[in-house]
Amino acid sequence: MPSSNRLGSSVFLVSLGCPRNLVDSEVLIGILKKARCAVTDDIHKAGIYIVNTCAFIDDAKRESIDTILELAAHKKERTGKGETPALLIVAGCLPQRYGGEIGRTIPEIDAVFGTADFIRIPDFIKKHTDGPRAVISKTPRFLYDHHSRRELITPCHYAYIKIQEGCKNHCSFCVIPSIRGPYRSRQLSSVLAEIKDLRSRHRLREVNLIGQDTTLYGIDRYRHIRIAELVSKAARIMDNGWVRLLYGHPAHVTDELIGVIARERSVCKYMDLPIQHCNDRILKIMNRRVTKKEIVTLIDKIRKRIPGVALRTSVMTGFPGETRREFEELVGFIKEMRFERLGAFTYSREERTRASGLPGQVSEHEKAERYDILLRTQKEIAGLINRGYQNKIVSVLIDEAADDKGLYYGRTGHDAPEVDGGCFVRSKRALTPGMFVEVRVVDTLEYDLVGEVL
Ligand code: SF4
Repeated sequence: MPSSNRLGSSVFLVSLGCPRNLVDSEVLIGILKKARCAVTDDIHKAGIYIVNTCAFIDDAKRESIDTILELAAHKKERTGKGETPALLIVAGCLPQRYGGEIGRTIPEIDAVFGTADFIRIPDFIKKHTDGPRAVISKTPRFLYDHHSRRELITPCHYAYIKIQEGCKNHCSFCVIPSIRGPYRSRQLSSVLAEIKDLRSRHRLREVNLIGQDTTLYGIDRYRHIRIAELVSKAARIMDNGWVRLLYGHPAHVTDELIGVIARERSVCKYMDLPIQHCNDRILKIMNRRVTKKEIVTLIDKIRKRIPGVALRTSVMTGFPGETRREFEELVGFIKEMRFERLGAFTYSREERTRASGLPGQVSEHEKAERYDILLRTQKEIAGLINRGYQNKIVSVLIDEAADDKGLYYGRTGHDAPEVDGGCFVRSKRALTPGMFVEVRVVDTLEYDLVGEVL
């Protein structure tokens, strides 16, 4: 088989899915640059196309396949013009879930790499041989560390830091444990070294600690949970900035963690605790390991101990067997709890999960209808909560200019990047991304605030 070395070619990379996948893409860019591959956002200049895919639910899989097909069409078109064919590489959750099958189904794909195998992409580029290739570990084990020198894709003033990978909770609807591997925490010192390194290289103002279940951090490596200690130490490094903890699990929140979030000035008064549902029967079948009563007790405790906290949650509609009455219980719960931030999803029937075999699958039409009801409910709650900000003074981290006439867009400590709303800021002086400004709120929208710089 002919082989060719493509190191030195430019790479066009598409990162799909959640921030955890984004961190993998950032690590990959660091590795590629070390191997002398430039990264370009102009597909016409690229000799290598890489898609880092997501395959969590149906919509994500569809988006991944559409993107691959688009790049395959580009490759074909260029080959048709007599140009050197680009290499098309597919990495991440989709190959991990479906093995080499996608490589065989789409002939333009040159290689597929699993969630822990993408670090071997430079080797493949160097020793590329014709014919499809699949590098997929049966049990993903890789976890990056502070030596990875990843390159940020996010604006330089904020970064996601993956503190652990994999999951051991085995919620009955979720494929993550099978595609991301066993729960594994990074070394505490490595996480802190990475934050220090990113802070020294960039104008970093905000770190978002992420994982599949960050509240269990340390359990595997240290045999006890060390998330409170990690958040507290990260806060010292990010003095005058923000540390935000995302992706917690309501069954694993400790008093110590709540205490750290309450006490540390640099830690955002924000907690992200997906509950998925509130009905005890459904929570049990979902294997969520919490009851409705325990969720209520936890929320009460958090709100008492962290005054002004913003709670984010996510819920699922149309889980198998969810009756109309159980769904209405969920709507009532959302109204009662008044979560400051809420994401809703329709249940996606994923093969090789326990829930996929359950009786009473809810029709797509019914799921969508329930989803709409939830969104409408939360829209009203979010609008009411936002009205409470009227005339208040809030600290805003500027993300970008919204126009060229002095309007900017940023976020308060209650808004995580990408998933929450933010604040439009009017200013007579020029502002730049990464600046903290004090803002008086003069108007409120459903999900955003509008304010003027003081
Ligand atoms: S905790 Fe989250 S990632 Fe883990 S199995 Fe449950 S839903 Fe999936």
